[in-house]
Amino acid sequence: MTPAYRGRFAPSPTGRLHAGSLLTAVGSYLDARVQGGEWWVRIEDLDPPREMPGASADILRTLEAFGFEWDGEVVYQHDRHPRYAAALAQLVASGDAYPCACTRKEIAAVARRGVDGHVYPGTCRDGLPAGRQPRAWRLRVPAGEVSFEDRVFGLQRQDVAQEVGDFVLKRADGFWAYQLAVLVDDHAQGMTDVVRGADLLDSTPRQLVLIDALGHARPRHAHLPLVCNAEGEKLSKQTLAPAISIDHAADELRRALCRLNHRPPADCAGLDELWAWALASFRLDRVGRTVQRDGV
Ligand code: GLU
Repeated sequence: MTPAYRGRFAPSPTGRLHAGSLLTAVGSYLDARVQGGEWWVRIEDLDPPREMPGASADILRTLEAFGFEWDGEVVYQHDRHPRYAAALAQLVASGDAYPCACTRKEIAAVARRGVDGHVYPGTCRDGLPAGRQPRAWRLRVPAGEVSFEDRVFGLQRQDVAQEVGDFVLKRADGFWAYQLAVLVDDHAQGMTDVVRGADLLDSTPRQLVLIDALGHARPRHAHLPLVCNAEGEKLSKQTLAPAISIDHAADELRRALCRLNHRPPADCAGLDELWAWALASFRLDRVGRTVQRDGV
């Protein structure tokens, strides 16, 4: 039986946890726990070329040192490829997915830009051009607007066909696309709630189109504010975000709570006290939308 609330934290092991990923972990954990819900950890190790050796173990060690307690066993996406293949097969059978022969260069030469790079111009939508071999698989995105109510950012709308176009489900290099894997797993694991960073706000309509095509139930969504560096760039491996230190876990947790608009009392010093306070005080409707600055 699916509980009333099951949430997750789903880091990609491309690097160690930084202040932005900690904020997401803290926000998703507290939202689950204050509602008596479950909180699972899923390591999104789908993209070996981008991964950092040892990052998965480091992330889990860090979560543990911070005092996070997750439900069930940690789930790894590298174990789950047959599920993604089954979802693609379902979409091919229903006519919702099609093979594509286009290279990035060919797309870039003719496409306009949308919310997340080039909008696929639909070259292979009605069949592969003569003599071309399939490279990737794409979803046939229906025309029209997708909308959802985000618990932090409010009503969101996007015309996925116009803004993104038919997007990739399986990449030309043979790896599964994040967009497909994430919602196949959320569904298979019975997730009722997706709480994650606002960098994925623009991806959510794509995932809703896929959820509808697969006939799954939509989870509730909440996106948490991003943490940026002094240059205004989102913290990530690419922007050389510093890893959070478990030697200063209480300070880091306090900072994450403050960025979520929850200010613990000054005499609340250790990790245990901070968690006890946060578990008694956290409310997602107090979380703001503003980008937070690291190092302050
Ligand atoms: N693996 C994604 C990331 O680390 C997050 C996926 C999600 O929460 O839906 O950015």
